[in-house]
Amino acid sequence: MKDVVTRFAPSPTGRLHLGHAYSALLAYNFAREHEGMFLLRIEDIDPTRSKIEHVDAIIEDLSWLGLSFDGEIIYQSERLPLYAEALAKLRERDLIYPCFCTRASIAAEVAASAAAPHGPDGPLYPGTCRRLSGQERSTRMGAEPHAWRLDMAQAVSQAGPLSWRDGDIEIEAKPELFGDVVLARKDAPVSYHLAVTIDDAAAGVADIVRGQDLFAATHVHRLLQHLLDLPAPHYHHHPLLLGPDGKRLAKRNGAPAIAELRMSGVDARQLATDLLSGALPAGYSVATP
Ligand code: GLU
Repeated sequence: MKDVVTRFAPSPTGRLHLGHAYSALLAYNFAREHEGMFLLRIEDIDPTRSKIEHVDAIIEDLSWLGLSFDGEIIYQSERLPLYAEALAKLRERDLIYPCFCTRASIAAEVAASAAAPHGPDGPLYPGTCRRLSGQERSTRMGAEPHAWRLDMAQAVSQAGPLSWRDGDIEIEAKPELFGDVVLARKDAPVSYHLAVTIDDAAAGVADIVRGQDLFAATHVHRLLQHLLDLPAPHYHHHPLLLGPDGKRLAKRNGAPAIAELRMSGVDARQLATDLLSGALPAGYSVATP
């Protein structure tokens, strides 16, 4: 039997709420049931939104919930050379290209097009910078900030058909739905898709337990795993916790932070047991798949 390694990978951009607690508990429980490891990875690659005080708070919240993690905490901000190495590999194979577009220029181009194709994250990148000449690319790279985008059509044709295991089901990967995704941002040397793919493989995460909101991104992750010769983990996307308003939990929808529950005298052990057994606080529900 393969060794089970799961992880919880929060972005330290705010306080954890009940939805995070639910996800962390499921990943923790999965590892413990299989006598495996449960890792904590802090996804702090966004320099403007990540805050150290949120990291401290996340650790405090997890320990209040009784979730101990194995090994050292992994910080994405300390792993930038690994991401650069992967980008260099993809660049050697002509699978990525520099993109100089701004959000506004992309939006204008999309608006001007009669039928701009849309993917799970909104309108697809129209491919403007994919069509630049090598000469123009090198001139502009010296002078302008740029992101790096995956040439999706090339990547998909090199990779051929791919799939992943999600729970008991085999899912056909359709990364082309996302178009030319960004793998390194203008304001951060890596994007979520690339960092998460590399980090899960590097830490030997064989079972990814995470919310259904990240199901669609798996199409891209599966392709990147293949392109970078990384193993395909077994995914276990779980349904999201919904608040009394029927919407997925989010700070902006008023979901209470774990810290507030703690301060209001909620019993952590009881809360963890209740969440895992489906005995949710009044008004809360689990989304139907
Ligand atoms: N950092 C991501 C988030 O907070 C989770 C990444 C993942 O589980 O793949 O939504």
